[in-house]
Amino acid sequence: MMKIHFVGAGPGDKELITLKGYKLLSEADVVIYAGSLVNPELLEYCKEGCEIHNSAYMDLGEIVDVMKKGVKENKSVVRLQTGDFSIYGSIREQVEELAKEDIGYDCTPGVSSFLGASSALGVEYTVPEISQSVIITRMEGRTPVPEKESIESFAKHQTSMVIFLSVQEIGKVVSRLIEGGYTEETPIAVVYKATWKEEKIVKGNLKNIADKVKEEGINKTALIMVGEFLGKEYNYSKLYDKEFKHEYRK
Ligand code: SAH
Repeated sequence: MMKIHFVGAGPGDKELITLKGYKLLSEADVVIYAGSLVNPELLEYCKEGCEIHNSAYMDLGEIVDVMKKGVKENKSVVRLQTGDFSIYGSIREQVEELAKEDIGYDCTPGVSSFLGASSALGVEYTVPEISQSVIITRMEGRTPVPEKESIESFAKHQTSMVIFLSVQEIGKVVSRLIEGGYTEETPIAVVYKATWKEEKIVKGNLKNIADKVKEEGINKTALIMVGEFLGKEYNYSKLYDKEFKHEYRK
């Protein structure tokens, strides 16, 4: 029996899908894409006659029904999701529903938007001795966030943070970051539609970013990046230090 192919579309730029994802997409008979976030330019890769569904207008049952029908008709079905499906991708509920029908699946990863955004800024999340961890999180919206994962509690770590799905409440995010221990001078950036043609970058500190973001009219499809990795301080890595010997460089 055919499997469902989950494919990460990448952050926006249609060339940022993997080669494997591109092949699956171009061979697909049925594509269900997340129309609210996937760049429609990616659909140019679909073959003629490919049946295309926009999941923005569908509920879980309808999505699974299209998948079931496709598989039964022995068609190649691609579920195209924005960025990578392992980050806020709602893939679990889809595969659990497929399992009930004994339908298998495979996954082809995508470039998540938090990587598109760091490339847009040309920065490293893990600057030696400044931060060696990245926290990916969100503020609660209609989807709750477990209390032990509050923005304040993560802010205590003072490491690199990427906050999804929260730019519409930038003011609240900022106060909670400050409550957690960041100073008002901490650098912060907001990247809207990273890697799309409409990409916008807003940089500032915790004191002024909310106003800047509002001035730009950004209230969705953006990431908030915060931490000293965006600041002036940095250190050289040991890896490329002339004096640092290792397996490959004696
Ligand atoms: N699976 C996706 C995230 C889906 S959740 C991924 O890996 O990127 C949707 C949220 O992701 C948006 O609200 C926004 O916060 C962020 N997002 C998705 N694409 C983006 C882009 N190109 N630029 C900035 N943020 C983006």
